[in-house]
Amino acid sequence: MKIKSIEPFIVHAPLNVDSISDSTNTITHWGIVGARIVTEDGLEGYGYTGTHAHLATDRLVARCISDSYAPLLIGEDAQDGDRLWRKLLSYPPVRWVGRAGITTIAAGAIDIALWDLRAKAAKVPLWKLLGGATVDRLEAYNTDIGWLSTPLARMIDSCKAAVEVDGFRRLKLKVGHSDPTIDIERVAAVRKAVGPGVTIAIDGNGKWDLPTCMRFCARAEPLDLFWFEEPMWFDDIRGHAELANSTSIPIALGEQLYSLHAFNAFMDAGAVHYVQPDVTRLAGITEYIQVAHAAHGRGLPVTAHVGDMGQVHVHLSFWHPATTMLEYIPWIKDCFEEPIRVRDGAYQRPEAPGAGTTLTRQAIAAHSRPL
Ligand code: MG
Repeated sequence: MKIKSIEPFIVHAPLNVDSISDSTNTITHWGIVGARIVTEDGLEGYGYTGTHAHLATDRLVARCISDSYAPLLIGEDAQDGDRLWRKLLSYPPVRWVGRAGITTIAAGAIDIALWDLRAKAAKVPLWKLLGGATVDRLEAYNTDIGWLSTPLARMIDSCKAAVEVDGFRRLKLKVGHSDPTIDIERVAAVRKAVGPGVTIAIDGNGKWDLPTCMRFCARAEPLDLFWFEEPMWFDDIRGHAELANSTSIPIALGEQLYSLHAFNAFMDAGAVHYVQPDVTRLAGITEYIQVAHAAHGRGLPVTAHVGDMGQVHVHLSFWHPATTMLEYIPWIKDCFEEPIRVRDGAYQRPEAPGAGTTLTRQAIAAHSRPL
């Protein structure tokens, strides 16, 4: 499994609508930016991060992969996963300029490709390489029905269709208007439309401050919300701990945290109830496993954020015993040889060898961007 080459790629996949917004982001495409690793014996591994498809920034990730990391790994044995992961993260000139951000997500893309290679070499799906599945039914919760930019009437129709036609029992709605009363009204309208049997979570994408969140939660508690995700600025441990102590609505976060140490700090402060690591934000699958075990050891559930839109996380979620559900956003699934599949509100278990990250030739031809 000697590594022969590592080449970056940038793919910009269009969404299923013109654009979407949450409280802090507006996007038209999802970026799939990563590494294709080829071994001397001809195996191909794919790993990537998820971006807002901003070409100038995506090129920085691609250059970090090709110019800083690839030379460290050419000729190495792809089976030596942990050692190679540490080699990337401890490389002094890169670590000096960034222990979080572009440098870690670039390392993560390579780490995912190495796991993909190892699962392909073993001829098993990643969840089996990791030790086998621990859940029979992996619940899918639908995020693609509740964007902040979706008009209320259309959001209600989409939520009802997701429940009544597609069989989802779990929905997530974006919140974070300048006037939180608008959010209370939108969430209450969806609750009324889908009834009490459907789980509704909300996601603020870090928009509000602590007093706004406290007032909002006091009004939202009667709506039976499953969690409030990213209520405040992503690094604010004290604020999240204070909010967690002041409301009965559980707090979820993690999609913007770059390291095991950041997760440990939030968990130790009692600032998070649902832990949401993402292989595309952390330094790949290797660090995701560390975070999932750390959460499990503290008795906290793990519900991955799908910056990979679920391709890798479906494997990790079937495997890890702290996980029973996974986010569902279907934007990029058709770019992959084995796309994620959801039926009756539950994920189907992937069966092809690898980590689910192999792009189709058609997707590369149609959506590649110049490096
Ligand atoms: Mg979120």
